[in-house]
Amino acid sequence: MAPQIKYTKLFIDNEWVDAKSGKTFDTYSPHDGSVIAKVAEGDKADIDLAVAAAKRAFHRNSPWRQLDASQRGEIIRKFSDLVVRDIDYLTELESYNNGMVLNNAKVFVGSAVNVIRSAASCADKVHGDTIPADGEVFTYTTRHPIGVCGIILPWNGPIYLFANKVCTALAAGCTVVVKPAEQTPLTALVLAALLKEAGVPKGVVNVVNGFGPGAGTALTHHSDVAKISFTGSVEVGKLIQQAAGVNNLKRVTLELGGKSPLVIMNDADLNLAVPFAANGVFFHQGQVCVAASRLYVQSGIYNKFLEEAVKYAKTIKVGNPRDPATQNGPQIDNEMMTKVLGYIEKGKKEGAKLLCGGNRIGTTGYYIQPTIFADVTDDMTIAKEEIFGPVQSILKFDTLEEVIDRSNNTNYGLAAGIFTTSLNTALQYSKHVEAGTVWVNTYLHFTPQTPFGGFKESGVGRENGLDSVLSYTEVKTVCFSLPKKV
Ligand code: ADP
Repeated sequence: MAPQIKYTKLFIDNEWVDAKSGKTFDTYSPHDGSVIAKVAEGDKADIDLAVAAAKRAFHRNSPWRQLDASQRGEIIRKFSDLVVRDIDYLTELESYNNGMVLNNAKVFVGSAVNVIRSAASCADKVHGDTIPADGEVFTYTTRHPIGVCGIILPWNGPIYLFANKVCTALAAGCTVVVKPAEQTPLTALVLAALLKEAGVPKGVVNVVNGFGPGAGTALTHHSDVAKISFTGSVEVGKLIQQAAGVNNLKRVTLELGGKSPLVIMNDADLNLAVPFAANGVFFHQGQVCVAASRLYVQSGIYNKFLEEAVKYAKTIKVGNPRDPATQNGPQIDNEMMTKVLGYIEKGKKEGAKLLCGGNRIGTTGYYIQPTIFADVTDDMTIAKEEIFGPVQSILKFDTLEEVIDRSNNTNYGLAAGIFTTSLNTALQYSKHVEAGTVWVNTYLHFTPQTPFGGFKESGVGRENGLDSVLSYTEVKTVCFSLPKKV
């Protein structure tokens, strides 16, 4: 049975409201393309109301600003308990709207709980310093919450990313207006209801569903918004960075795309490397920004690796995401499926060797076979552009020096990985590769404590942990003149 859809309106000032225009838009199931709900379509007028509510909630006398930092932490912690209480429902709804398989939805929602609790524990750890400043002065710094924050979400990890960004901002004492992705509007509304139940005062969290050019741009241009936190494409990330400087000077945290290299050395343990490399690119149908989409395999084990990789890929069970036995589900929508199939065609045309997969599965929903290309070269489109689909591109290399330079020959820099049994090789690669996260003998290992973000065009800033909470604050220096020396 399909999960019940409880909320479809906008959430402003702790109330459920229709869009000012009265408009709605359809949201679909990626499994069969059917319409599963009509959701209020927010626009500039609704963003204006939501930002005004968030601004009132940020006033120094507001109930939110009157709370002790530890009380904010308690509310965030309570929210995590409510997510745990409703975890089965949230997991089902995430799978239904996004197409992620139930097991992956469990992983994402479990990670959301961890990240909410990590943010809760940071709320009363935000502090300044006392500074031995020159002169007869007593000087200290404080951390001041930055203000109203705009949070713009992608569709690939709706609950996890909502939880991470919103709770980090709340831990710092900010208020937020969230614009979920138009493909996946449903779970953000449930989370908003749980935040209200946890005791978040009105106006502190607002959710305005809608599209990028409408609600999204209204938020990024709003002069009362102090910061934008965004996860999504490089293309939109650049637009947001530009918009941030138009009507005021917003701070930005941008977590963007990647073309992450994963290196398999001759001395790697293949029993480990083959499944990790497969999971690195096929997990969630390749729809993760850190997907290991350039797989560099050293020449001594190249042929053996190809054989094992194909064997492994053929075991992946693709099907209805809500069937617990399924390992891979559909792509998010027709547009993304068409784009990924287009990349597969380019791979074939440009001379890569198709070892398995390469086609759409069936004619309903947006399913693609796990696909492997071998003999990929750095100049091919599938080695250069982010595919965001279940396509493993395998490239051959000879030396460590060569693979370091080839890894770095990209405008992206989100993640990288290496499988080797040589400590020296692992350390050399980790030292020289240009990436925000480097995994050694593992891949996709995320924790709420470790900074996450990109070099180069993969982003600006880092998420997770106390440093991330600090990025939602401004530093204030307070300087007291002291009376004459005693
Ligand atoms: P993807 O390619 O993964 O769909 P996008 O970067 O296009 O990612 O979209 C991610 C989020 O950014 C979505 O919530 C989308 O509505 C929003 N968005 C798209 N264009 C803009 C824009 N010009 N300004 C602000 N937000 C936008």
